[in-house]
Amino acid sequence: MASLRKKNYRKIKRVGWVGSLITTLLFMVVITTFFALAVVGFIRYALDTKISNEYEKIKYMAEIYDSSADGDDIYSYLDLSGRDYMITDSDNNVLHTTGKNTCSFEGDTVSISSVAKSVLVYEDKAESFVYPSDGNISLRKKEFFEMLSETENESEENIIEEDGVFLDDEAMREAEETLKAPVWISIDVKGGKEKLVAKAYYRINKDDLFLIGMIIISVVIFILVMFVIMVIKIVRNIAKQRKLMKLYFTDDITGRKNRAWYLLKGEQILRRLTSRKKKFAVVSLTFSNYRNYCICHSMKKGEEMLCKIHELIDETLDKKEISAHMSYSSFALLLEFEVEHILKNRLEVLIERLEHLDSNHKFDFQVGVCVVDRILDENGKVRRRKDIEIEKEYNSASMARESVGDSDESHLIFFNDALVEERLWIDTVQDNQKKALENEEFAVYYQPKYDPRTNELKGAEALVRWISPEFGFVSPGRIIPIFEKNGFITEIDHYMLTHVARDQKKWLDQGFKCVPVSVNVSRAHFIENDLAEQIRDAVDKEGAPHELVEIELTESAFFDDKKQLIETISKLRDYGFSVSMDDFGSGYSSLNSLKDMPLDVLKLDAEFFRGDNQNERGEIVVSEAIKLAKSLNMRTVAEGVEIKEQVDFLAKEGCDMIQGFYYAKPMPRDEFEQSFKKQ
Ligand code: C2E
Ligand code: CA
Ligand code: CA
Repeated sequence: MASLRKKNYRKIKRVGWVGSLITTLLFMVVITTFFALAVVGFIRYALDTKISNEYEKIKYMAEIYDSSADGDDIYSYLDLSGRDYMITDSDNNVLHTTGKNTCSFEGDTVSISSVAKSVLVYEDKAESFVYPSDGNISLRKKEFFEMLSETENESEENIIEEDGVFLDDEAMREAEETLKAPVWISIDVKGGKEKLVAKAYYRINKDDLFLIGMIIISVVIFILVMFVIMVIKIVRNIAKQRKLMKLYFTDDITGRKNRAWYLLKGEQILRRLTSRKKKFAVVSLTFSNYRNYCICHSMKKGEEMLCKIHELIDETLDKKEISAHMSYSSFALLLEFEVEHILKNRLEVLIERLEHLDSNHKFDFQVGVCVVDRILDENGKVRRRKDIEIEKEYNSASMARESVGDSDESHLIFFNDALVEERLWIDTVQDNQKKALENEEFAVYYQPKYDPRTNELKGAEALVRWISPEFGFVSPGRIIPIFEKNGFITEIDHYMLTHVARDQKKWLDQGFKCVPVSVNVSRAHFIENDLAEQIRDAVDKEGAPHELVEIELTESAFFDDKKQLIETISKLRDYGFSVSMDDFGSGYSSLNSLKDMPLDVLKLDAEFFRGDNQNERGEIVVSEAIKLAKSLNMRTVAEGVEIKEQVDFLAKEGCDMIQGFYYAKPMPRDEFEQSFKKQ
């Protein structure tokens, strides 16, 4: 989940300018290269054609020179061309020069496509703005532009200077509007023994320049337009990204920060935590009345309440602290603190303020806190930053919050190792419960009930024990609450009922004088309409008489649907089972329940006989409870009786049975059998 969240966040981030910048840049690079190549190609082609004219003329000179015989005054004839030229041998040693010899003898063979020839071309030493290389002719940029600015003044003068028999009218006209770039063309003569190297000019007229200029301007404009488009796109994308981010991190109920933001931002804050003094508290806070509030008012009002809660939480935050609406009625906070009791105080004040958010109601808030110290691992080493996951800390805080169980009342719990152990135990039990039931690892223990007046065995209660090959002897206090929560209690109760019925049948068959045994039936069963039938069938299957089985209902069962409960109790009694109210006096509505429930037995809660409750008032209450039971035609059982004085007192008051350590502790089946035998 965490990685998916980060992936989503990265996706939104990518919507920004980086992506469009890269694509636009790439696009621009491709287009610019394409245009640049096209322009360079065009210029080269233009230069290429421009020199072909000159080449033809120099070639003509070469042909004249070639056809001359020794002794001819060939130089004075060639001089008529008005061109600077040289005759060299094949090693470039000059044999004759006319004009200024500024040839560098550095150059290359270039192919002049218009005449389909490869020609040796040298740079001019004085004005080297045309250079032949790689089989092409190029203009040096800097010099070319300098030349452009100078051309207008010089061209006319140059043309006159260069005027000669080889310059025709058309060339003249052209030259008038031309800027020139000198280059030396070398042509082999006399069978390759000599060379005619003559100065030639690229003559670029204004039309050519205009075309080249237009092309360059178009490319520049194109790139500028692209740049503007790119900037607009980036700006729009940044705005879009901001909007998306805001949406992604805004809670759709409270309009403030949401879970995604908390986990991302919180993790960043925690990963920066290096100070020894500073600690952070990851807080999980739940508004427990939310569901009821929505039912009693409306969803809208409920959500308004969540907004107010979030607003108040935010009001109490310091600069570096954050909060978020996580889900449903849960909020998360990340608080900074130095001393734990001050943090506790602060949170208590917050709960107090939240509880009184609405003057007409008192709300409840459950808060779990997980302290994040300078992030040390189990071995005391500083944890690697990337190992810190706020989700884990939040989970621990939530676990602490939930550890109180079903309580809806406000509470504040700090996460600790015992809670982890508790959680591990719950998981272990849940993982093993089914297998343990199948392997009959649950043992039925019997705690006898005695008549205090005669000390006679009158009954027993069946109590479960888990004798696990792995965990040893496990008392019900460690498993029953877990089973009650996860619903497995119904299976346990059925298992106990079946085993008790089976034992009773066996003892009867063995000729023992059996006593009624009570089994506990948890509140969780009462959602089943046919509970009475199920109990009857289970007992019948084992063949035990109904009067030897008693059903104990805990007080909490009496909170549920009264009508259905009365119906079930009546049916059970019709079938011949006794029904008792367990733990009478431990809750607050038992007296009221007595009024309507047709019960057989009242079990006085062990709390009446615990510790220094041995006072007069306590005795009055017990005495009156026994009387009340008698008036309602109920038998009484006193639970948790440990001392003789209590036994004597209960005997005097007419209590029918005592189930307590004074007589016996819960014992395994075999031991309980001995009690029969003793009788
Ligand atoms: P309970 O039904 O109230 O059972 C009586 C508990 O009080 C038993 O604890 C018993 O050992 C204890 N007790 C009896 N006499 C004395 C005494 O003189 N002094 C003291 N200190 N304790 C005494 P146990 O067996 O640990 O069972 C605890 C609770 O677990 C039971 O309370 C019952 O609520 C639940 N439980 C046990 N077995 C089952 C079962 O099979 N099904 C259901 N639903 N609940 C069960
Ligand atoms: Ca009981
Ligand atoms: Ca009890």
